[in-house]
Amino acid sequence: MVDESTEINAAASDDTLSEMRDLYSIIRQANEAYYQNDEPVLVDAEYDKKKERLRQLERRYPNLKAVDSPTGKVGAPPAEGFKKARHEVPMLSLDNAFSVEEVLEFDAKVRRFLGWDIGTPLEYDAEPKIDGLSLSLTYVDGLLRRATTRGDGTTGEDVTRNAQTIPEIPERIEGAPSFMEVRGEIYMGREEFKSLNERQEAASGKTYMNPRNAAAGSLRQIDPEITRNRKLQFFAHGFGKISEPLGATHAQAMTRLSEMGLPTNPITKTCSNFNEMKEYFEGIEQQRSRLAYDIDGVVFKVSRISLQTRLGSSSTAPRWAVSAKFPGETAWTTLRRIEIQVGRTGALSPVARLDPVTVGGVVVSNATLHNEDYIAGVGSDGQPIRDGKDLREGDWVKVYRAGDVIPKVADVDCSRRKGGSTRFEFPKACPACGSAAPREETDAVRRCGGDIACPAQQVERLKHFVSRNAFNVEGLGDRLIEQFHSEGLLRQPADIFKLRKRIGSGENSLQEWHGWGAKSASKLFDEIDSRRSISLNRLIFALGIRHVGEGVADRLALHFGTWSAFDETLTSACERNENALSELVSVEGIGETIAKSLIGAFSDPNIKKAMDGLVNELKDIQDVERAQISDSPISGITIVFTGTLAAMTRAEAKARAEALGARISGSVSARTGLVVAGQGSGSKGKKAQELGVRVIDEAEWLDLVGKAG
Ligand SMILES: [Zn+2]
Repeated sequence: MVDESTEINAAASDDTLSEMRDLYSIIRQANEAYYQNDEPVLVDAEYDKKKERLRQLERRYPNLKAVDSPTGKVGAPPAEGFKKARHEVPMLSLDNAFSVEEVLEFDAKVRRFLGWDIGTPLEYDAEPKIDGLSLSLTYVDGLLRRATTRGDGTTGEDVTRNAQTIPEIPERIEGAPSFMEVRGEIYMGREEFKSLNERQEAASGKTYMNPRNAAAGSLRQIDPEITRNRKLQFFAHGFGKISEPLGATHAQAMTRLSEMGLPTNPITKTCSNFNEMKEYFEGIEQQRSRLAYDIDGVVFKVSRISLQTRLGSSSTAPRWAVSAKFPGETAWTTLRRIEIQVGRTGALSPVARLDPVTVGGVVVSNATLHNEDYIAGVGSDGQPIRDGKDLREGDWVKVYRAGDVIPKVADVDCSRRKGGSTRFEFPKACPACGSAAPREETDAVRRCGGDIACPAQQVERLKHFVSRNAFNVEGLGDRLIEQFHSEGLLRQPADIFKLRKRIGSGENSLQEWHGWGAKSASKLFDEIDSRRSISLNRLIFALGIRHVGEGVADRLALHFGTWSAFDETLTSACERNENALSELVSVEGIGETIAKSLIGAFSDPNIKKAMDGLVNELKDIQDVERAQISDSPISGITIVFTGTLAAMTRAEAKARAEALGARISGSVSARTGLVVAGQGSGSKGKKAQELGVRVIDEAEWLDLVGKAG
């Protein structure tokens, strides 16, 4: 839609005007999908082409240009209008299982953690996984005080006024605990979704791709009256912080919530063995198409709340729940081109560009092709996949999607192959920088050897650096990074912190050169400056070193405590200092591969220089976020476990200690603060005594954490 204030240029034809209108609407929708819903609807090349065409038309007919033309700004405006709100207990997402067999593996993992064998009865509560939007409701003394979206899991958006328009969410609850965070899913029924799109279409408004997008878009409306007209629904499926228990099991807690007037899903079941879990999963899959709402799987939760507490969470997901996804839907289409993308760590990843096709309600135009072998039709184990059929440009291929996972190519119909098609020649050099891209023997992928000199790697590293779980600079989206990179403003993460100086004012400024408003420009710079203070675990993760994911970064941060201790040890390890090397591999969860990768990064003078430059820009590197449990007697202490514990497995003991802010190490050193010696502890106990480190037995340990918890 062209803005009303636009003056119409009399010289332009109606066709031009309608073409521009279409382009405005397409680009705005694409921007919104890309920047706010994280779901691209156009492939990059198409997007760029459309935007370039619009620019051309605007140059030719400047009077037709809308005042809020998408060519004038980068991306959609950030979702303004919602306050941020912190969750009392993090809203983690669930680990996925993509088959019933993986559910069995999940059960085995739970049992290993608890030290239970397969014969010990263990109940799971099962429920359908609603394809909606997670919401947390805070009730204080029975009154709805706040509704918060998941956000990054720690902090979400305060959407209270919108949630209050949903009839199924009670404003007041009788007999509720004095403090209660209810967790659940906002969704839109299929009927309402259909009718909403019809209404939108009739009014030339935005239509939605699927009920989940419609629910998200409807809840996050600045005007709550719009939300009210969208007929959203809610299912409660759990809780966060709570001032008194709701029941001994998950099912009991849900019954209690339902008695309080919160809607809960009626088709749940308590399963007492794996067969029952499998039956439930298959039963729900059969009912799927007849349900009034979209689901994409089944969630299994360890039933007893006391066991959930023992199992706790990793940094990303609870250990007591798993989301089992239904097999994805499939569709056939033409594979137009195979393109090579260069990743953050230099990996050359082939991507299939497809003729757009609808798979499970979503338009798919790209699919991952994993690596060279996958295209050739060979698995990582050397066994043929797709009956050994290779993939070629122009092929007729079967595409599938499972849940939110990136679409994949499952099969190819060689009988439709035309003569003259040739095997795909995988490049031996980086398409972005031309560096040789060798493939190591143990590696399934080719990697560009250009490292931080490779422009493609630079861009991907920058994107990773500002991502949610790293420096979380929301205002600096992918497209903006690409643009700044192409203009030479960004090469390394440190450059991000120099942006204000470079383009904050003057003729090259965001306002003058890029046409930004003064308010949004200063908002971006302020956001960047606020990240000069960052936690050590986020900093380590943000560096984007290969094999160093969030969990590893957490452990390194927990162990070393400060950047300088981490930096010193790594620098010494690069000089092959024995103590430093053994300290590094003594960190729980750090093996040879990770240590090698870390040392590789720290001994590369260019990478090291970039890291030092970054640290120079930072004001304050805080201790690990997790270690903020200051009232715990073991907070900040490095603990070594040795021998066998009777009451809990080693994994549970470690998880418990970490949850209380302790650091875990595999070997005793001068840094060790406490050794917990179980049955049959050998040399480690002796070494601790030599170093004068405090050693306690299991009874003392239980006493200590019992008091702490
Ligand atoms: Zn390269």
